[in-house]
Amino acid sequence: MLNDQLRRVLQQMPKAELHIHIEGSLEPELIFALAERNGIKLAYGSVEELRAAYAFTDLQSFLDIYYAGASVLLKEQDFYDMTMAYLKRAEADNVRHAEIFFDPQTHTARGVAMDVIINGIYRACQDSPVSATLILCFLRHLSEEDAIATLEAALPYRDKFIGVGLDSSEVGNPPEKFARVFARCRDLGLHLVAHAGEEGPPAYIYTALDTLKVERIDHGVRCLEDAALTERLAKEQMALTVCPLSNIKLCVFDQMEQHNLLQLLDAGILATVNSDDPAYFGGYMNDNFIATFEALPLGLSHAHRLSRNGFVAAFLPEEQKHKFLAEVDAFFAKI
Ligand SMILES: [Zn+2]
Repeated sequence: MLNDQLRRVLQQMPKAELHIHIEGSLEPELIFALAERNGIKLAYGSVEELRAAYAFTDLQSFLDIYYAGASVLLKEQDFYDMTMAYLKRAEADNVRHAEIFFDPQTHTARGVAMDVIINGIYRACQDSPVSATLILCFLRHLSEEDAIATLEAALPYRDKFIGVGLDSSEVGNPPEKFARVFARCRDLGLHLVAHAGEEGPPAYIYTALDTLKVERIDHGVRCLEDAALTERLAKEQMALTVCPLSNIKLCVFDQMEQHNLLQLLDAGILATVNSDDPAYFGGYMNDNFIATFEALPLGLSHAHRLSRNGFVAAFLPEEQKHKFLAEVDAFFAKI
């Protein structure tokens, strides 16, 4: 059981969120409001019916509902409202900095223009007191040609995103499928991340590192199946953006008590805690921290370390990074 002091610390400590899919922050209430505003008929009769459908068995069963939810996003204001709703929740959880994933192909495939997507999300980031930057993700179940076309379409807005990532159905779509587009992004000076080792094997983490040359691994929890890989990740201080509630909801682990976050930390890995798709997986940042600390033997020193890790792993200018880290240390010095 979590004591009151630790619970308060987890709620109030400064946080960086590095693994949040903005389309995964769409709450059923907002999905219904946007559907009504845009005259879209949903396959679900009510907010309750939609929420009841969030009983996933694996990544694919989630993705099917996730794409249906995103279909209500049509206009720039829709993307703005979705992003602002997330940033308000993040602010309430004392998130100081967020690096937000967005999936343009989910929208361009429905005829929504790239400028509508990027400008709506970006404008909300500008209007929020939370420091927020954007990472464009390619859908890995689609072809590399599609990813390349998406990158080209996004390049006129290059100043509005800091990096690219790789998400969607992992198994059967290894990182190396996107070697060329990632090489091009690297030449463009974009930061590189990829989902690997969530449902996919440790081999996908190797190719994300060696072929795509990513700077962070999203999820990566299956690295512990490979001792040499675990050691390498620790030695290189390669960050993993771990999403505990997501891992339980998608059955990567049966129960939070079995989650390997503590083993990752004990192995010396730069693990961070994040919410992934908070509207679908049962919680935002503080919910993730509290659920994890309730289930695992984690204490104040782990909270301090995880709070720091988020900023250490962030793509921020050094000066800003140090400012946030100083804020973290000052917070923990007062406890
Ligand atoms: Zn994710």
